[in-house]
Amino acid sequence: KYTYDYLIVGSGLFGSTFAQIMNGNGKKCLVIDKRGHTGGNIYTKEENDIKIHWYGAHIFHTDNEEVWHYINKFTKFNNYINSPLAYSEGKLYNLPFNMNTFNKLWNVNTPEEAKHKIQEQCSKYKDISQPANLEEQALKLCGDDIYYTFIKEYTEKQWGRPANQLPASIIKRIPFRLTYNNNYFNDPYQGIPKDGYTALTNNLLKDIHVQTYTNYFDNIPYFQSIAEKILFTGCIDEYFEYKFGRLDYRSLKFKHIYLDTDNYQGNAVINYNEAKYPFTRIIEHKHFEFGKQPSTIITKEYPQKYTPSDEPYYPINDEKNLKCFNKYKALAEKNSHVIFGGRLGQYAYFDMDDTIASAISLTQKELSI
Ligand code: FAD
Repeated sequence: KYTYDYLIVGSGLFGSTFAQIMNGNGKKCLVIDKRGHTGGNIYTKEENDIKIHWYGAHIFHTDNEEVWHYINKFTKFNNYINSPLAYSEGKLYNLPFNMNTFNKLWNVNTPEEAKHKIQEQCSKYKDISQPANLEEQALKLCGDDIYYTFIKEYTEKQWGRPANQLPASIIKRIPFRLTYNNNYFNDPYQGIPKDGYTALTNNLLKDIHVQTYTNYFDNIPYFQSIAEKILFTGCIDEYFEYKFGRLDYRSLKFKHIYLDTDNYQGNAVINYNEAKYPFTRIIEHKHFEFGKQPSTIITKEYPQKYTPSDEPYYPINDEKNLKCFNKYKALAEKNSHVIFGGRLGQYAYFDMDDTIASAISLTQKELSI
């Protein structure tokens, strides 16, 4: 009766992983995407022999053996280790907060000295037992120097609100590393796909019918008629025509700049922590791949208020939005013809490894493994 077993709306990492596994299990899949390319937000665009992370820097990292084993069937990873820097008051500091950071900030050399300094900084705020907002929470956890140099203005740019009006729950803990180790992630596996994320997506979608520039909402009756089931990885509120209201997001704008120099900043990621810079970070893409190209491409990342014409990037997981999402979720559970997956379908921030793990788990459910 149906042409396809699954219509997969969205060719991002969730849709592509799902399609790859279902296709491998004999299910006929059609993948559609409204964008002009596959890969969703992990898409890389190649220009001047440089792979540009078109929707923001993406570094793969995981401690999930199953995910690592799965994804390595479709790409090899280089040995890139994420070691971002933070620019503040004319100086560059290492992240995550570690002995290099403390050495530059306080001129301390040993872990004992750093520990003592952190305790001294925090003691000023020891009477805050129930932090009422993010500012109080951060001051309690790290004291003035770290908060005002690195956290306050950066967080305010990111969320578009003063830190004393943001919920304390955004910051649960501030990890301090008392070693001179600049590796941002603690995961055992990390890297950038050797041929880029676009090649990775192409490998996942090999032998699968794919249509780009195809929006599900442009022909709903047709799309509903061609497949036994739909996996929808777009916005769940849009699918249900916003009947319980719109879910809110934080958006981003990316400004890609081509420069006639071979090395602009000497590192892939530099955060700009101060409010006087409207962007939060500058990415120099070639450093993700140890590139030797004669020119370079950088991207400035500007946090934005989300309006319906913008790309939704980060869900705002506050009480109001979660309540609204739960209504959509309950409605979705009543409809056995459509499944919702991915960061927009599940209204959650997922790193790439969580996205793959979640897609694998859905295929197991669908295949009743
Ligand atoms: P998406 O990639 O958003 O894919 C959804 C797709 O659905 C899109 O292609 C969209 O065009 C399509 N679509 C939507 N609606 C329709 C429709 N109506 N019709 C047709 N198609 C439709 N993770 C990491 O592990 N490491 C990182 O360093 C990292 N950095 C990140 C940086 C930024 C700025 C952001 C926003 C995320 C980052 N992530 C990172 C997370 C990562 O991007 C996600 O885990 C992953 O992209 C989620 O894939 P997805 O398929 O769920 O969503």
